Amino acid sequence: MFSYRHAFHAGNHADVLKHTVLIATLDHLLEKEAALTVVDTHAGAGLYRLDGDYAGTSGEAAEGILRLLAEKKPPASTAPAAKSATKKAAPEAEAPLADAIARYLSVIHDFNPKGGARIYPGSPFIVQHLLRDHDKLKLFELHPTDARTLDANIAQLEAGRQIAVLREDGFGSATKFLPPPSRRALVLMDPSYEIKSDYGRVLDFAAEALKRFATGTYAVWYPIIPRPEAHDLPRRLKTLATKAGKPWLHATLTVKSSKLTTTPTGETQRPGLPASGMFLINPPYTLKPLLAAALPQLVERLAQDRNAAFSLDSGG
Ligand code: SAM
Repeated sequence: MFSYRHAFHAGNHADVLKHTVLIATLDHLLEKEAALTVVDTHAGAGLYRLDGDYAGTSGEAAEGILRLLAEKKPPASTAPAAKSATKKAAPEAEAPLADAIARYLSVIHDFNPKGGARIYPGSPFIVQHLLRDHDKLKLFELHPTDARTLDANIAQLEAGRQIAVLREDGFGSATKFLPPPSRRALVLMDPSYEIKSDYGRVLDFAAEALKRFATGTYAVWYPIIPRPEAHDLPRRLKTLATKAGKPWLHATLTVKSSKLTTTPTGETQRPGLPASGMFLINPPYTLKPLLAAALPQLVERLAQDRNAAFSLDSGG
C-alpha cells in the first residue's frame, strides 16, 4: 500500500509551489502574537538529502529547487493576475525576484548556509524553522520508515513539547487538535494520492475540520494528472468553502504537457508529474498578491515546454 516515498520527489516543482505557498501563509499567520498550531496531516520524513540515493534516483529536484537556484538571469514578470487568470509563460523582461520566491529561497538557504540545496527541508522542518517558542506543531506520518526517520530528525531539534510526532492516520485523527486552545491554526493536507480514495478523504477531512473549527486556515496540495478525481477535487473544495461562506484561493503551476510521448524506438512514455495545485480555505489576504507576482516567475524558471502556465483564482 505504501509505495510512495517523498524522498524521491523532494524539491521538485510541486514542492516549490507547495512550500512557497506554505511559507507565505505562515509568515502572515505569525504576525499575530497569539499562539499558532500547525497540523501537518501527511508529514513525510521531514528532511531530505538531495545528493542522497533516493533523490538521485529520479532527480526531480533538478527540475525544481535546483533549477530555481541555478537560474542566473533575472526572472520575467507579467502584469498582475486578474481575479481569475490562466497565463502562458511571459516574454522575458527584467524584474526583481518576487518576494514569495525570494523568501522561499532564503528559507532553503537557512538549511544550506554554504549555498545550494544539498539539504532539502520538508514541510515539518520548514514550519518548525518559522514557528516561535509558544507555537505548536502536530505531525502525522503513517509510513513506518518515514515515521521513524521523522522521529529521529525531529528528536535532534530538542523542541520538547512544541512538536508532537504521531504515527497515526492524518485523515483519521488530526481533527482532534481542532480547534486549538488559542483558536489559531493552519492545517496542511499533503497526501501522496497513491490511492484513489485520498481525494475523497481530503474532502471529508476538510468538511469535518471546517465544522469543528470554521476559522482555521486549510491548505491542500494536489497533483494535476489525467484522472477525474484530481480534476474534481478543487471544484469540490470550492463548493465546500462557498457553502460554508468561507474565502478560498486556488493556485496551480504547470511545467509541461501531460500528454504521453513516444520515444524514437516506439515506446510510450509517461511525462512524470506535469502540474500541481494548492487550494486554501481562509487564506491570508496577503497571499494572492504575493502569488500573482511569484507564479509567472515560477513558470518562466521551471518551464519544461511550451505548455508551462499558472492559474490563480479566489473567491468568497
Ligand atoms: N508534507 C511533506 C512535505 O511537504 O515535505 C510531504 C508529504 S508526502 C507528499 C505524503 C506522506 O504522507 C508520505 O510520507 C506518506 O507516507 C504519508 N501518508 C500516506 N498516507 C497517510 C495517512 N493516512 N496518514 C498520515 N500519513 C500518510
